[in-house]
Amino acid sequence: MFLLMCPKCKNKMKYQPRGSLDGKKKKCVYCGYSFTVHPDQKKSRIIS
Ligand SMILES: [Zn+2]
Repeated sequence: MFLLMCPKCKNKMKYQPRGSLDGKKKKCVYCGYSFTVHPDQKKSRIIS
């Protein structure tokens, strides 16, 4: 389980990926903005 931050509205949401994170898209549950979940920790939206 990861905690992601939306790059648009900055809200945090839980994310449970299936398999690799590589190139996965996540749709923000708050504003509907879709963003890529980067496997690279530096560029990722993963907070924890
Ligand atoms: Zn959002």
